[in-house]
Amino acid sequence: MINKSPWISFIEFGGCNGCTLEILSAITPKYDLERFGIKIVGNPKHADILVVSGTINTKSLERLKRIISQVPKPRYVIAMGSCAISGGISRLSYNSKGPLDKIVKVDMYIPGCPAKPEAIIHGILNLIKGWEK
Ligand code: SF4
Repeated sequence: MINKSPWISFIEFGGCNGCTLEILSAITPKYDLERFGIKIVGNPKHADILVVSGTINTKSLERLKRIISQVPKPRYVIAMGSCAISGGISRLSYNSKGPLDKIVKVDMYIPGCPAKPEAIIHGILNLIKGWEK
């Protein structure tokens, strides 16, 4: 059983960095994700939840798989933003390997391009709420 104050790590692949800017808003004092008891960690090896944003391409695919394999089980994966959810603006590119749920089981989707800080927090809290059922 995972504890209810999870550790979380964010990672972005090949997107426009718009989602990363919104993550910065979500984790800094205005929205302050940590007020919910969630700890942000830089190393996915320490995380319970991995939030993935951006477009997965040929070059990043193996790196993504390696990073996901390093997150201890039971691990939870969140697809954040249109790029991770559907391939986004690059979905028809020869180089696109997304969407994320083709590569790994996704436990929560946070839509938006970019996803807003409110949506990021809402998605994470809904995932945690699901553990109580
Ligand atoms: S979903 Fe939109 S904002 Fe986020 S990385 Fe992709 S293009 Fe950028």
